[in-house]
Amino acid sequence: MNRTYLDHNATSPLRGPARAKMLDVLRAAGNPSSVHAEGRAARALVESSREKVAALVGGRARNVIFTSGATEALNLALSSHWRGPDCAPARLLLSATEHVAALEGHRFGERAELLPVDANGLLDLTALDAALAREAGPVLLCLQAANNETGVLQPVAAAVDKVHAAGGLVVCDAVQAAGRTACTFETVGADMLVVSSHKLGGPQGAGALILRDAALNCSRPLIRGGGQERGFRAGTENVAAIAGFGAAVDEAIDHLADEEARLAALREQLEASVLQIAPDALIFGSGAPRNPNTCAFAIPGLPAETALMAFDLAGVALSSGSACSSGKVKRSHVLAAMGVPDDLARGALRASLGWTSTEADVAAFTLALQQILARIGRKTAV
Ligand code: PLP
Repeated sequence: MNRTYLDHNATSPLRGPARAKMLDVLRAAGNPSSVHAEGRAARALVESSREKVAALVGGRARNVIFTSGATEALNLALSSHWRGPDCAPARLLLSATEHVAALEGHRFGERAELLPVDANGLLDLTALDAALAREAGPVLLCLQAANNETGVLQPVAAAVDKVHAAGGLVVCDAVQAAGRTACTFETVGADMLVVSSHKLGGPQGAGALILRDAALNCSRPLIRGGGQERGFRAGTENVAAIAGFGAAVDEAIDHLADEEARLAALREQLEASVLQIAPDALIFGSGAPRNPNTCAFAIPGLPAETALMAFDLAGVALSSGSACSSGKVKRSHVLAAMGVPDDLARGALRASLGWTSTEADVAAFTLALQQILARIGRKTAV
């Protein structure tokens, strides 16, 4: 059966050049820390990927710290031991819609505070002002560029201006935005950016924390040992995954402008279909700027669990509002923060497009949705 994969925000299929690069690397031996030819070849692969990842976000190669993924990069970035040249944040602010890797992964304990978002999922900048004014001393702010559930693009640059004026630092979780829309140090202005390989068509198990300024320092990195990654992340590098990550980044950069427009058009078609079939459907975050690839919606009377299974049987891979490791649909903290009523949030579905997506995928999704709604006895408008 032909499958229609519309879950690129969970993971994007491996791009051909990334697979080819990894297969090549897996045939060779070589520890990047070894001085012999094999070691130097492995080192060259890692350093070449470092340059590509730096180019993706307009940063400097030496400030790229490779990790096992964005979860680890966020855990490292949200340590309370980062020091800027003249700044030592002692408390953490996070938007209420951050990924659980940030919400659960930080090390500020009770010195962390959640900031509210509006009905479209946008950070409340007045609440940020109030939080900055409440206590003296620099803060660390963690703010996503794009939300994984709704695609909503946060006003990162505006938040950065406020935090910098108050002497603080900003970590931007660019996992869903990097490679899909312009998201660089120049556009967002953050001090640290987090990216993940598998969201842009690289292998799972690789990611990076990128520092804007080499003077930023963390006195207690998460993983200590052999001093790799300038001491920020010890352990022999995952050379094959890092090489695949670099190859995927190259592809993403090459196609960024075209893909952004192509995916936005496909997403528009998909949303038009949803609203034509079910005019009472709600598209979450539609009043805010969004990543071009993401559509989160709910149709009253259609529970997400039932819908996900029915779509899957029809050959369409979607996601509920928020993926959960147990496979059960959990209540979405993102939709809760946006004030979406429980009964509507229980029906939240997410279609996320990417480099494999085509008009045929949108057509297969549309047909499946019509059939599912007909089966549950709901009148459809088409
Ligand atoms: N941040 C966001 C916004 C995400 O969507 C994800 C993954 O879904 C992560 C962080 C964690 O990324 P990784 O799977 O590389 O650990």
